[in-house]
Amino acid sequence: MEMAIHSRSRPLFDRLFRDFLQLRRSYCHHGRSKRLLVSRFFQPMNLREDRVPGAGRSSELSCKSQRLMLQAGLIQPANTGCFHYLPYTVRAMEKLVRVIDKEMQSIGGQKMNMPSLTSASLWKISERWDLLGKELFRLKDRHNMEYCLSPTHEEAVTELVAMQGNLSYKQLPLMLYQVTRKFRDEPKPRFGLLRGREFYMKDMYTFDVSEGAAMETYNLVSNAYSRIFEQLGLQFVKVQADTGSIGGKMSHEFQLPAEIGEDHLLMCPDCHFAANVEAMTNADTNCPQCHGKLRESKGIEVGHTFYLGTKYSSILGASYSNSENKPVVAEMGCFGLGVTRILAASIEVLSTDDAIRWPGLLAPYQVCIISPKKGSKEELIAGLSETLYDTLIDALPQFHGEVVLDDRSHLTIGKRLKDASRLGYPYIVIAGKRVLENPPAFEVSCPNNGKTVFLTQEGVLDFLRNVKIA
Ligand code: ATP
Ligand code: MG
Repeated sequence: MEMAIHSRSRPLFDRLFRDFLQLRRSYCHHGRSKRLLVSRFFQPMNLREDRVPGAGRSSELSCKSQRLMLQAGLIQPANTGCFHYLPYTVRAMEKLVRVIDKEMQSIGGQKMNMPSLTSASLWKISERWDLLGKELFRLKDRHNMEYCLSPTHEEAVTELVAMQGNLSYKQLPLMLYQVTRKFRDEPKPRFGLLRGREFYMKDMYTFDVSEGAAMETYNLVSNAYSRIFEQLGLQFVKVQADTGSIGGKMSHEFQLPAEIGEDHLLMCPDCHFAANVEAMTNADTNCPQCHGKLRESKGIEVGHTFYLGTKYSSILGASYSNSENKPVVAEMGCFGLGVTRILAASIEVLSTDDAIRWPGLLAPYQVCIISPKKGSKEELIAGLSETLYDTLIDALPQFHGEVVLDDRSHLTIGKRLKDASRLGYPYIVIAGKRVLENPPAFEVSCPNNGKTVFLTQEGVLDFLRNVKIA
């Protein structure tokens, strides 16, 4: 019986096996998953151009991160304040979102996703339909109903929670968040991803039983924000801030000090006082806490936290039932992180004038291996860089998808090293002259600290073993 099936299915088996081998050949090398080759990347580089498309008409409109991101093929302008995020940027952004997700979920955040298109009627209830004026992108549907492309989601999330009639105090704090595109018709879109008209924001909305509980939640989220910036190795200041059109009772901004920053900050070198000038009732030059002399600095706002009170929950009816089963209006907070702005801002503060530097965790790829130049003696040792590539991924699986091979062997090693350094790979491994030694020695260059070491293949693996990858 078994024999019969075997012989009948044999031709089919042979064909499937042949197809499998064919497929394996096209997707794999040496039986391992496909290598990432620099020659195949979609990355319209403008490295040699001084002027790059969309950098702005005058130098005033451009800044370091915008120029570097355009030159390196990380972004491409689409229309005013709107950019194509090219593959390297998307990888960095996905890593940033992973870092954010981990922190938001560790404090109880639940990830969701709300529509970008929101109805005018909702915005009229909060009176922000008129208040936001020209900043709102407004549109009408085929039935002549008015909508906007949401610049933020306080109204939408509060209505959503209000619809859950049976929310119990036992379910609070409720912490909902999303990472979505936001739309703002900014008066001055500029500086690339720093101030776009369409950008990504992580926004969290929290619902609590009381003002005290809401303050605890406020601190919980603020501390999570601090941990995010610490992990990214970004120097930040948390400042007292104005509540603006979002409203509420208290707010803080997370700022990265930078010359290009559009916010003016006042900081006290003696105590911990720090504020956005916008938030100060009298922009005195003395510290309101210790009367010391305040120092001025410019900053890029990368995050904003608000204690809202019941501003939205009372008008939209977001309430919960308390232990006596009585409905009580929920106390709210909202918390924004500018996802795409953080990417550009980190490039702005970490990069040199002509080379991108990423927070280690966000580098789109961790390792770039540069193969020997075509026609060189080193090239005669067949498959050196390919073997290193495959062994690295086999031995350290966390590097899967993190290693690229600069296979453009018609270019000199020097030229490719320069490109790699400009793109900011944290680790560049070169199969240069010393691979002719026995055992072969690879040159490992770390643009972040300017150090170079020569290591055997085994040494390279040891060197990379403890690298943190998001
Ligand atoms: P700004 O004062 O810079 O215009 P905002 O105070 O209006 O920002 P929020 O409403 O607090 O911004 O939004 C939360 C976060 O979203 C901000 O801290 C910032 O990081 C980011 N963000 C706001 N506007 C933009 C924009 N036009 N482009 C990119 N990111 C933005
Ligand atoms: Mg803000």
